Amino acid sequence: MKPAPFTLHRPTTVAEAAGLLAEHGDEAKPLAGGQSLVPMLALRLTRFEHLVDLNGVAELQSIGTDNGTLRIGAGTRQATVGRDATIAYDTPLLTRATPLIGHFQIRNRGTIGGSLAHADPASEYPAVALALDAELEVTSASGARRVPAADFFTGTWMTVVEPDELLTAILVPQRGDARRGVAIDEVARRHGDFALAGAIAVIDLDDDDRVARAAIAMFGMGSTPLRAPTAEQTLRAYTRAQVDLAAVAQLAVRDTDPPDDVHATGAYRTRACAHLVARVLDRAFEEATSAAR
Ligand SMILES: Cc1cc2nc3c(=O)[nH]c(=O)nc-3n(C[C@H](O)[C@H](O)[C@H](O)COP(=O)(O)OP(=O)(O)OC[C@H]3O[C@@H](n4cnc5c(N)ncnc54)[C@H](O)[C@@H]3O)c2cc1C
Repeated sequence: MKPAPFTLHRPTTVAEAAGLLAEHGDEAKPLAGGQSLVPMLALRLTRFEHLVDLNGVAELQSIGTDNGTLRIGAGTRQATVGRDATIAYDTPLLTRATPLIGHFQIRNRGTIGGSLAHADPASEYPAVALALDAELEVTSASGARRVPAADFFTGTWMTVVEPDELLTAILVPQRGDARRGVAIDEVARRHGDFALAGAIAVIDLDDDDRVARAAIAMFGMGSTPLRAPTAEQTLRAYTRAQVDLAAVAQLAVRDTDPPDDVHATGAYRTRACAHLVARVLDRAFEEATSAAR
């Protein structure tokens, strides 16, 4: 099928893009890599009179650090995120999450901002943003605001971004001197498919090998990516030898209510995710323990 007719706008600045969204309101939609939006338009699952193409907005494609924060422009291609040295050093979780997204053709066009704004609950980057306590910068014609990842995702394919706003950057606290280990894993029916369930662990250890900070994030397990605060709390101040990872993983999945659909039952997702949580925690502990003091 072909999409319904639309007017394509090609702004070159964020201000111009935000102005177009303000002018056309509900009838306009930003277009980034097009890897999710274009198929939906072509299948006529959605329709917009105006598409605001962000590909010519150079300021959305920068990667840099400032005052302890890594800033990644929303228009940065997923493939670029996956091979950038600054990101690999500061946020290796993003580097490791990237190859799990679809196929390389998709990552060559798809953007980090498109993935976050599209907010598929089985997506990797939204869960990474949640695990890293990232903030999302959202800009309209009247200015920019920052939204914690924990408040950004409101439901399946839903975020706090209003029709007159665009996502402009993801801001991640730099890891500093933390002895950190990170891991991500997922189960999918075939390589390149969206995950049936996925899990992320971030473990920061103190000099005595005790947990100073733990983050567990899960994806494919509800309408948004999820954290597991109770399970995270049980790890605080313990060493690897003192914790039963299988028990922590059961605690992590206890409050989830994953969907039954044509791909898998909720019960399957829960069992699979518990195994994944235990596995990523183990890997993250191992990496953090071997990090230099
Ligand atoms: C076969 C296939 C397999 C895939 N597998 C995976 C997978 O395993 N994991 C995964 O995470 N993704 C997967 N994807 C999706 C892929 O990552 C998309 O690239 C991503 O979801 C959307 O990014 P995009 O840049 O292409 O955005 P687009 O498709 O251009 O836009 C997606 C949505 O986000 C909005 N949007 C985009 N940028 C902005 C912005 N800056 N501000 C506000 N709104 C914005 C658009 O208006 C639209 O609603 C897959 C896609 C395909 C086709």
